[in-house]
Amino acid sequence: MADKKNDIKFPPVGGGKNGKGTRNNSYWFYLLIFAVIVGINFFPSAPDPLSTTWETVKNTMLEKGDVAKLTLCRLEYKVDVYLKEDRVENYPDLVARGFKNKSTGPHYSYKVASTEASEANIDQAQADIPGAKDVTRDYDDDKSWWENGLVQLLLMTAIFIGFWLFIMRRVNRGAGGGPGGVFSVGKSKAKLFDRESNVKITFKDVAGLAEAKQEVEEIVSFLKSPGKYTRLGGKIPKGALLVGPPGTGKTLMAKAMAGEANVPFFSMSGSDFVEMFVGVGASRVRDLFKQAKEKAPCIVFIDEIDAIGRARGKNPNMGANDERENTLNQLLTEMDGFETNSGVIIIGATNRADILDSALLRAGRFDRQIYVDLPELKDREEIFKVHLRPLKLGTDVEYAFLAKQTPGFSGADIANVSNEAALIAARKDKECVTKQDFLDAIDRIVGGLENRSKVIKMNEKKAIAYHEAGHATVSWLLEHAHPLLKVTIVPRGKALGAAWYLPRERQITTREQLLDDMCSVLGGRAAEELVFGQVSTGDQNDLEKATKQAYAMVSIFGMSEKVGMLSYYDSSGQSDFHFTKPYSEKTAELIDAEVKELVTSAYTRAKKILGEHQEQHRQVAELLIEREVIFSDDLEHILGKRPWLEEEEVAKHPETEQPDATDDVQS
Ligand code: ADP
Repeated sequence: MADKKNDIKFPPVGGGKNGKGTRNNSYWFYLLIFAVIVGINFFPSAPDPLSTTWETVKNTMLEKGDVAKLTLCRLEYKVDVYLKEDRVENYPDLVARGFKNKSTGPHYSYKVASTEASEANIDQAQADIPGAKDVTRDYDDDKSWWENGLVQLLLMTAIFIGFWLFIMRRVNRGAGGGPGGVFSVGKSKAKLFDRESNVKITFKDVAGLAEAKQEVEEIVSFLKSPGKYTRLGGKIPKGALLVGPPGTGKTLMAKAMAGEANVPFFSMSGSDFVEMFVGVGASRVRDLFKQAKEKAPCIVFIDEIDAIGRARGKNPNMGANDERENTLNQLLTEMDGFETNSGVIIIGATNRADILDSALLRAGRFDRQIYVDLPELKDREEIFKVHLRPLKLGTDVEYAFLAKQTPGFSGADIANVSNEAALIAARKDKECVTKQDFLDAIDRIVGGLENRSKVIKMNEKKAIAYHEAGHATVSWLLEHAHPLLKVTIVPRGKALGAAWYLPRERQITTREQLLDDMCSVLGGRAAEELVFGQVSTGDQNDLEKATKQAYAMVSIFGMSEKVGMLSYYDSSGQSDFHFTKPYSEKTAELIDAEVKELVTSAYTRAKKILGEHQEQHRQVAELLIEREVIFSDDLEHILGKRPWLEEEEVAKHPETEQPDATDDVQS
């Protein structure tokens, strides 16, 4: 989820001028070419002259006094005849060709054996014929150039050359992503942020993550005063790998590091190395390191490093990606190649450290791995503080309350909630952002947009209500189920209804907790079967969840007695379990049987609970049909207080409790 407020846009260094100007120019260029082509082809030029003879000209046209001008074209041995403007239409053959009065000539032309003889003829005629006296005479030796088409040819050639150059320039720019064109394809695409770009993200902008920050601060201090460490013979680490789920602030941390150390910061994503041309990745790695060394001390940040750093050659016969491997090899070589104390520190970020090549992770390359985990309660409070700083808050907004409402949210999610809340408040024309706006924003981010216009038939609504009431009732009566916040049958996103829980932040989960979770997940289907005697497709999501959980319990957590304390999970991602299972067919059958047994017994248990509390279940469902949204205190009213409620949970804010995790239903 992108953060709208804190995402400072960095101007790329040394670029940014290819904006509007070029584009406008290119439009002019297109227009010009178009105009020239249209001009040449379609401009209404005069029709070609009709050919005639000197005798006809003399005896008819000159005799009648119709001729205005005679032009002698000496190079072509011909004479062009221009008639007077108002006489053209007296000649039917001219009219037939398309000439009109006032049409510019030449109208006729005739061939001559020599221009001298022809001039003599004209002199003679002018002396003899009165109508020929005022005929003007001129010479047009150049015209033939144009008429020969030489100029047109040159013009067209020039236009084509211009056009070709223009296209080449554009292609180059497109492919190379900058000046230098196609030839710069092997250059690194890293963005450089340095002192001039005025990036000022500091550790103050990174909330929580105390341990990670501490490690990173140490790196900053290496960069600031390397002497302090090298004095005693120590070596400055070459790289650190930030590992953690998306949106937890890895990029932010790296930027803050650069801001604090006040050194240049090259930022690039793993996928930027990859291009369709062979060898480009490796060449970009080389270029990146070359640039970095020139700017040392500096930080090179490679986001999503798993795009290139994935373990090599695991499936050689499956057409392994050679290009990616070459890129990785180059990266390994470069990281080995530069001097330890050259002042270039590589920071990688990934959420899949398990799939990275072990060569990349060995000491001497990424010496340190820094875990950036999803924020805990206290950290979330800190992150809210950072992101609520620019907002105008109502008096009822408490950071601690918001943090409690958002278990499992990443820093980016929190940034998104803050922004969304501000937008919701603005939509309602409020003066400040209130608690309710935050709760609405959380609902919206977790469950999707409310979809009140969806048409739901009454009998469907009833089925959904009983289904949701089933979840709610069963989970209310189970010791280890997550505390319920509210139940709704207002469609949201793809879900037609949902029971919302506030998941406990467990570090470890016991078998009993898993079984109770599974039981409450199956409560919806159990309710439908008990009440209506039939089940529907709406349970697919629940069944999927329960099945996955059961498989995990049996084959990963070793929680089945029959299968035993075995885990078939490979956290290193190095084996090819996808193709060959690490257990025999017999064990596979046993796993299947155990999974089935687990799910069935959870289902039977859910049915039993609902059977014993049939009346209360009905009341919950009917209330839900009536109100569409009911809260935990409504359930308490019907089912009684939960004896296992934990100290600091829901009860504190019963009237406004809002959801964090949904149990999707009937999508
Ligand atoms: P990633 O771990 O995927 O690289 P980012 O660093 O890009 O995540 O985080 C995205 C956004 O989430 C940041 O721009 C920031 O606004 C917000 N964010 C994440 N973690 C924190 C944090 N610890 N403190 C403050 N903001 C955070």
